[in-house]
Amino acid sequence: MGKEDLFSIISTWDFGKKANKFAAEVLREGGSPLDAIEKGINVIEEDPEVMSVGYGGLPNEEGYLQLDAAIMSGPLHKAGAVAALEEIVNPISVARKIMEKTKHVLLAGEGALEFALRNGFQKRNLLTDKAKREWLKQKEKKIETHDTIGMILLDSEKNVYAGCSTSGISRKMPGRVGDSCIIGAGLYVDNEIGGAAATGMGEKIMMFCGSFFIVENMRRGMSPQKACEEVIKRMISKGEKEWVGFIALNKQGEYGAASLGKEFPYAIFSGKEETVKKSRFFKRREND
Ligand code: ASP
Repeated sequence: MGKEDLFSIISTWDFGKKANKFAAEVLREGGSPLDAIEKGINVIEEDPEVMSVGYGGLPNEEGYLQLDAAIMSGPLHKAGAVAALEEIVNPISVARKIMEKTKHVLLAGEGALEFALRNGFQKRNLLTDKAKREWLKQKEKKIETHDTIGMILLDSEKNVYAGCSTSGISRKMPGRVGDSCIIGAGLYVDNEIGGAAATGMGEKIMMFCGSFFIVENMRRGMSPQKACEEVIKRMISKGEKEWVGFIALNKQGEYGAASLGKEFPYAIFSGKEETVKKSRFFKRREND
């Protein structure tokens, strides 16, 4: 049995498949689980075709990008995160540096950029022509879009790790920070239990401490699937209507996903399977 049989990776959206593959490759080549999370997410951050993460992501109302990202290590029970980071292609890598090199968890805005530059990251214009065209179209039609690459990894030693990265909601207010850099909202890991990660309307995810909630549900004995569903049901019970989705993975390598309003694809990579599945979704409450 190869080493790839002994780990499981789950990521949000179709592009999660590419991220998982890359992360698995890093592990196979002897990289650490944190390298796998970071490099797997880097691939999506650097992909100009993914218009909700890193380079080529969609800008805010003023036309520039502000990125959020976080990474968490189960065995260390430590995390690093960046909020509203500008002009850096790989916010997940900056988040990892914050976790490993500072006593802080979250750096925001100018301070995060300064830290990144001091640590060898280069400034780059993140706005592609394609993203600018899409932004103009969205402005005219008054629409907004968003997604996040969220990844959870269970390694061969049964340790759990997670990471996420996003350019947030398109046309958001400058300075708006979403769930993806908030530990417990956009992602959470407890090394005794498992991990969870979120995508969708960050304001709603934050208000329910979505990822923490899921991990605590698993602690109380729920399967990852049920744990995700319970959060969605709680949100619906409070009248929430905006789209959110969660993925979860436990220490046994079992996984699940649930969402509000409509399904979303998520990608699995393990010794047993390499596939993209659809979340179970729950309907909004209609009459309030
Ligand atoms: N959760 C992200 C945010 O609110 C967006 C998304 O994943 O759809 O910034």
